[in-house]
Amino acid sequence: MAIVHFARFFTLAGYYFTIDFSQYRKVLLEQIKRMKRKVLWGSLLLFLPIGVLLLNSVYPLPVEKLKPPSSTMILDRKGEILRVFLSENDTWQIDEPLLDQISPKLQSAVLVYEDRWFYQHPGINPLSIIQALITNIRSGRILRGGSTITMQLARMIEPKERTVMNKLIEMFRAVQIEIRFSKDEILTYYLNIAPYGGNIVGSTAASLIYFNKSQSHLSLGEASLLAAIPNSPTHLRPDINPTMAKEARTKVLRRMLTRRIISDQAFYEAMGEPVSSKRHRMPFNAPHVSRLLKQYYPNRDQIYSTIDSYMQNRSEQILRQYLAPLQKQDISNGSVVIMDAKTREVLTMVGSYDFFDRKNHGQVNGAVASRSPGSALKPFIYGIALNRGLVTPESLLNDVPVDYSGYRPVNYDRQNRGYVTVREALTESLNVPAINLCAKLGDNGIYSFLKQAGLTTLDKSKMHYGLSLILGSAEVRLIELTNLYASLADCGRIADYKLAKPQNKNDMPKRKRGECFESSQRSWDNQKHRTGKQIFSQEASFILSEILSDVRRPDLASSFEATANLPKVAWKTGTSYGHRDAWSIGYTPDLVIGVWVGNFDGHGTAGLVGSEVAAPILFAIFNAVIERNNARWFDRPNQVQTRRVCALSGMPKSGFCPKTKMDFYITGVSSPDICSTHKPVQIDNQTGMRLCSYCRLGRTYHEEIFEEWNPEIATWLNRSGYMIAKIPQHTPDCNGIISGSVPIIKSPSSGTVHQIRSGIPLEYQKILLEASVSNRIKQIFWFLNGELVFRGNPSQKFFLEPIAGEHMLTCVDGEGKSASQTLTILD
Ligand SMILES: [Zn+2]
Ligand SMILES: [Zn+2]
Repeated sequence: MAIVHFARFFTLAGYYFTIDFSQYRKVLLEQIKRMKRKVLWGSLLLFLPIGVLLLNSVYPLPVEKLKPPSSTMILDRKGEILRVFLSENDTWQIDEPLLDQISPKLQSAVLVYEDRWFYQHPGINPLSIIQALITNIRSGRILRGGSTITMQLARMIEPKERTVMNKLIEMFRAVQIEIRFSKDEILTYYLNIAPYGGNIVGSTAASLIYFNKSQSHLSLGEASLLAAIPNSPTHLRPDINPTMAKEARTKVLRRMLTRRIISDQAFYEAMGEPVSSKRHRMPFNAPHVSRLLKQYYPNRDQIYSTIDSYMQNRSEQILRQYLAPLQKQDISNGSVVIMDAKTREVLTMVGSYDFFDRKNHGQVNGAVASRSPGSALKPFIYGIALNRGLVTPESLLNDVPVDYSGYRPVNYDRQNRGYVTVREALTESLNVPAINLCAKLGDNGIYSFLKQAGLTTLDKSKMHYGLSLILGSAEVRLIELTNLYASLADCGRIADYKLAKPQNKNDMPKRKRGECFESSQRSWDNQKHRTGKQIFSQEASFILSEILSDVRRPDLASSFEATANLPKVAWKTGTSYGHRDAWSIGYTPDLVIGVWVGNFDGHGTAGLVGSEVAAPILFAIFNAVIERNNARWFDRPNQVQTRRVCALSGMPKSGFCPKTKMDFYITGVSSPDICSTHKPVQIDNQTGMRLCSYCRLGRTYHEEIFEEWNPEIATWLNRSGYMIAKIPQHTPDCNGIISGSVPIIKSPSSGTVHQIRSGIPLEYQKILLEASVSNRIKQIFWFLNGELVFRGNPSQKFFLEPIAGEHMLTCVDGEGKSASQTLTILD
């Protein structure tokens, strides 16, 4: 490389020696005739390069000074500047790695004004040095330096007093720079580190501070002024000396006109531009995400974020608009995250209500803060259960009081419903059925699911969170929760979210400000970097999304017109324990939006309810950012079919189900078991007793359909006063056991009266409880006056400590069939 540069240096040098000295050719020829001069001249040509090479190795170019510490610049997905940070040296310096990112107007203004032979000379321009010498000698003082842009660059990296010796050093450095770098690189360095007054360094920072625009938008007048300022930054800066700045601009423009770089018209137009003395603030948009990116990528000067400025700005506005009236209700903050469901690019991150609000900790980034999600994780247990075929939307779940080793979950309204469908349990966000389902999922349940999904806040053991994990005992970050929902929007695929574009040279989009590289970038992401893993089947995701799109929207009633065209959205809310956090997350196949509302100091307040304060913000943002024309819903996967199920039990209908309804199911996955709630029972016409296949013979009987419930629901229905027709008892003198018949209580035998004997401890007077059940039965339950006293397998022996009184003893088998008898204990 160096050799190539050297060769160019020599060619160019030769060019100058032949062309510029052509007028002295005669004199030269005479001189060359002389032997001594010939030797001298020859040796000069021979030793100059060797000398330069030698000096180059002794005094290497301080290359690092060409790249001083620069400001970090955060850009949005289209290349517009979001925020600029001061450099380590407290300067505003934005490094432009490529010349084509610098305004062409500024380039030509600089070249014509400073060094119009820049692209021809080898770093030193002998003509301008001679011209400068003549000028200086005539005037008796130093007026001109004869410096090329390369020499000026050398002086910028090593500022020195203006002496003849220093000038020679500068020339040597200029040659070194020319050998090492291309002309474009040199001009780029020059414009990157040129002083623009105060702590403003380089043309990009100057352009932003003096004109509040990026280089691509510079006018001719502005470019001309930027070309002039580095000559005397303190005197020419427009914010301090607008008059002198204007004069300098005129000089540059005149020279451009003289050299016919610009037309007369362009010249007069530029001359007419006012010189503003305003100093603008550096861009300060999306402050939270900008700061986060700077922390994530400390070594990048320019960070291409995935932020979509339009969505970011609209979300900020909407969040402010909705949070403003809540300030009076002791609700001070909120955050918003918008994610592209396919690429997982974060399109928006609003960290707080007001970044500058110190009182309410506005600088805290709520999007990455760990908070309790309340019910916001619930959909995922249903997802797991759907995925395993355990449930379909119309399956029933128990909603009766339960006790898991002392943990007794309750619903938000403290009511139990006996049984509810999966759809109802999820849309009404009931706690008890969710906990029951969670318990049913066993070891490989929600905890391992969330671990697999990569929730970074889940740092304690499974035991620590227990079953209440699903009700918000673990904390989550809004950004991760939004990403988790993105997996539902993306066919069950979990992947990492992205905040920045990659900065690999081949992958990096060429920044052209104002131009959109979005489309190409998205396809790039889709094809090459579609990593991640399937945590649900797409069938389970589809069904879950269908259920979540069912929920009554808070916006539909109040402002029908505004939402009339709003496409189908799947969504869920969450409210943490003690009303400390309100959440709402929604998605379409394209976008996922997460909203958190709360106080950063964590205090709760009655108004913090997900559906009341977070959901309206979610829908307002959906309304603002969604492209209605392109809005779509998920395609139903082939494996998802509909089937007719029992309207009561939600299981595939049997011939005995009186009413049916349609339900989604996954072929080959969802349970095919038909309704077990509706049972035909043969009843003796004479006695009204139940008959089995043995005792049925020779008797006249009829068949009736009964509802048979599992013990928990049956007990709850009884105690709650629901009139459920009781299945008649089996003919007592029959020894046959009906397949699926009721249990038969063997001990205590019917009608026995127990007498508690005094003087003997009660524990030695226990009563044996024993029942015979169908051999299919795995579990039996004993209830005393409706209270569960034992549960276990049918072969187990249970002993009841006697309590004086009239009791009702009930044995319920695992299929919900039961037998009862009275038990009298006398004191
Ligand atoms: Zn049925
Ligand atoms: Zn029988």
